[in-house]
Amino acid sequence: MSAQAVAEEFAPVIGLEVHVQLETETKIFCGCSTDTADAEPNSHTCPTCLGLPGALPVLNEAAVEAAVRLGKALRADVPERTSFHRKNYFYPDLPKGFQLTQYDAPVCQNGELEVRVEGRRRTIGITRAHLEEDPGSLQHVGGSIATADYTLVDYNRAGTPLVEIVTEPDFRSPAETRAFLAKLEEVLEYLGVYDGQRDGSLRVDANISMVPADDLEGEVAEETLAAANRTEVKNISSHKGAEKALAYEVTRQRNALQRGREVEQETRHWDESRGITVSMRSKEAEKDYRYFPEADLPPLEVAHWREELEIPELPDARRERFREEYGLSAEAASKLTSTKAVADFFEGVAREYDPALAASWVADHLLGELNYRDMELADVADRFDEFARLVELVAAEEITEKNARETVLREMLDAGRAPDEIVEAEGLGKTSGDAVKSAVEAAVAENPDAVEDYRGGDEGAINFLVGQVMQKTGGSADPAQVNELLREELDRP
Ligand SMILES: [Zn+2]
Repeated sequence: MSAQAVAEEFAPVIGLEVHVQLETETKIFCGCSTDTADAEPNSHTCPTCLGLPGALPVLNEAAVEAAVRLGKALRADVPERTSFHRKNYFYPDLPKGFQLTQYDAPVCQNGELEVRVEGRRRTIGITRAHLEEDPGSLQHVGGSIATADYTLVDYNRAGTPLVEIVTEPDFRSPAETRAFLAKLEEVLEYLGVYDGQRDGSLRVDANISMVPADDLEGEVAEETLAAANRTEVKNISSHKGAEKALAYEVTRQRNALQRGREVEQETRHWDESRGITVSMRSKEAEKDYRYFPEADLPPLEVAHWREELEIPELPDARRERFREEYGLSAEAASKLTSTKAVADFFEGVAREYDPALAASWVADHLLGELNYRDMELADVADRFDEFARLVELVAAEEITEKNARETVLREMLDAGRAPDEIVEAEGLGKTSGDAVKSAVEAAVAENPDAVEDYRGGDEGAINFLVGQVMQKTGGSADPAQVNELLREELDRP
């Protein structure tokens, strides 16, 4: 057997640990604000999140609610009771010397999330999702961690609620991890517990093992996984990054196996700028953390929260309903459910006017113009009424589609004016039927040559005449209607 054949017979088995910052107003164990985006370093701190001796944690109900909602969306079990443990390790961003996290009673267990990859449906098992506190952040000045002159510590982030989602080793390709993370972000956004724009809001560690491809049919046997050496890749911060880092690892490990070398069991760091993974210190084993129960936080009864807390319709269900209820194509439905804000916006317009018109105005025109301006729907969400009015003007045929799209919508976004004001100021009100008719008659009377050409079979001549009418009406006539009126006029015996 050639070395190449050996390498081809190995395929990746991947599992993820995803850390997500939950959007709550205050930190998970104290009352400090989490709104730290433009804050001075260490301005959002108190004795609890600074880890001062004697300071006591108080659990933030909103963080637990967010985690339970996520559990519901992942079809996970929420136990009778959940509790917190101390995970002991020392690092400058963790002044207490331990992280408050969950150990044997996580808030969610045994969930799943369905993803589509290249037309194939895959169900990824979720082992658990638990709550914990984010540490502070370090800023190495004058170099990397090894070469910096000194390091600054900012505890503004310390105590931000995190949920860590641990998957089963169910991924069979780097592309699947990317699809999963994109889907997870979408679900979190729908639940209103996540802000993807926030720096560091999503951090991913990935475990990858290369196993004999024969063993990949269905579930991978425990013995197979135990026999393969596992590499952990840290410092991934996006779905694209996950796919790239893991694709790099698959190639690196295949190459090693091809040369008859063993893949080392180790932790590696994803270097995004160089597009490679590099070996790190060996990972602590679980026993090194000396987990023990947090005595200052009593266990919490949570089972009934699952029943009591509501979650909104999730992206897949909403996509399906949009297709059925509004007759949208798969592509339009997918575009119009990309975020909850877009879906809500579309549905508001669709309920008042023609759904097909609403779909093309939101999916094609509005999102396109926003994208061109590097804006998001959230930036104009408070102008829903104005946008609905624009669609109403088009639906009532008071302005032409062309003017609505090229003038009114752009003016609305660039100058912040209301549609009626723009129509009035620019004189875009559609020319009345009578005025169009007289413009048609005048164009026919003034252009005998073009009329003759048309009657002689030159179809192109009609375009010239349409142009003449459009000019006479200042561009406010509907070209299709002009075309129709012209043909009526010219075809008259
Ligand atoms: Zn605090």
